[in-house]
Amino acid sequence: MKSLNLYDIEDLRFEEIDKPVITSPTDVIIRVKATGICGSDTSRYKKLGPYNKGMTFGHEFSGIVDSVGSQVTTVTTGDRVTGCPAIVCHQCTQCEQGNYSRCESLYVIGSLEPGCFAEFVKLPVSNVLKLPDNVNFTTAAMVEPSAVVAHGFYKTNMAPGATVAVMGCGSIGLLAIQWARIFGASHVIAIDIDDQKLTIAQTLGADYCINSNTVDLATAIDSLSYKIDVAVESAGALSTIGPVLTLPKKGGEVLLLGIPYADIQMSREQFEKILRNELNIIGSWNGLSAPFPGKEWSSTLHYMSTGELKISPIVSDILPLEQGAEIFNALINKKRHFDKVIFTP
Ligand SMILES: [Zn+2]
Ligand SMILES: [Zn+2]
Repeated sequence: MKSLNLYDIEDLRFEEIDKPVITSPTDVIIRVKATGICGSDTSRYKKLGPYNKGMTFGHEFSGIVDSVGSQVTTVTTGDRVTGCPAIVCHQCTQCEQGNYSRCESLYVIGSLEPGCFAEFVKLPVSNVLKLPDNVNFTTAAMVEPSAVVAHGFYKTNMAPGATVAVMGCGSIGLLAIQWARIFGASHVIAIDIDDQKLTIAQTLGADYCINSNTVDLATAIDSLSYKIDVAVESAGALSTIGPVLTLPKKGGEVLLLGIPYADIQMSREQFEKILRNELNIIGSWNGLSAPFPGKEWSSTLHYMSTGELKISPIVSDILPLEQGAEIFNALINKKRHFDKVIFTP
C-alpha cells in the first residue's frame, strides 16, 4: 500500500509497504479516506520526538472498515468510521480512574505504531467510532483535534452567557471558537495576527476580531462592554502565552491548549496577573475521558452532524498523499498560507 514514512529530521518518504494484517481478535483495519496534518506532526517532522525510524506518520483520519478481528462486534466491513489515535494502557492508576489523558504510557499512532498517512491503518476496536450518515470524510478527519479542544472546555466552569476570548486562530483556535458557542458563550472574541484567519474566525462565530499586530490588545480589550470569563491560548506561541494571562477578568479562567515548541518567556506583569487576579489556569492534554475514548468524541460527532461544528472553512488543501513530503517542506518553510491540510490516500 501507499504510505508516508518518517525516517529522520525532515526526511519523509512516500513508499510502498505491506498492508497491515489482523493480529489480535479486537483489531480493526480501516481504509483511510481522509487524513489531516496536525501541528504536532509538523513539529515532529522538524525535530522527531518518540518515534521508530521509518514509521508510517499521521494520526488524524476517517475511513471505511476493511476487515475486523474475530471478537469485533460493534463495527463491520463497510462501516464509515473515524479513529481515536491515542493508545492507553488501561492499567495504570490514572487509567483505572478514567483519566485516560493522563495515562502513564499514552502515545498516539504515527510514532511508536504505524499511523494513518497510508491507504490502511489498524486500531483496536475500542478506538473506532462510527460516523453519522451526514458527516463526510473530510469533516470526520478532524474529529481528533475537535475532541482535544472539547476536552479543555469540559474542564472550565463555563456557563451560558459567558464571554470567551480565543488567542490564536489556527485550526485549534477555530475549533475553540465553535466549542465556546456550543458551551453557551454569548460573546466570542478572536485574536490573531493574520487577517485571513480572523475572517474565517468571524465566519465560524467570533463576534469581535482583534488583529493584535495592528491594534493594541489591551486597549481593544478595555474598550469592550463585557469582561472575559475564559481566555483560550490556542497558538502555543511565545507571543501569546504571556499576553493570554492579561485577558480574563479577576477570578477568570485561562485554558491552555497550544503546545509551545520552544522555551517560553513572559514578563513579571503578565505572570503577576495569575496571582493578583486569582486566575484559574487550566492545563489540558489530549481528549480522553471515561468511558473510553470519552464524551469529547461522541459530542464532536453529534455537533458535526448538527452542523454546529463546521470544518470546511478550516480546510485549505485537499491533496493526494503522494505530495506529502513536498507539503511538509512547504509548511515548515512557510512557502505559502496553509490552514488545515487533508490528504486523500
Ligand atoms: Zn492531532
Ligand atoms: Zn494508563
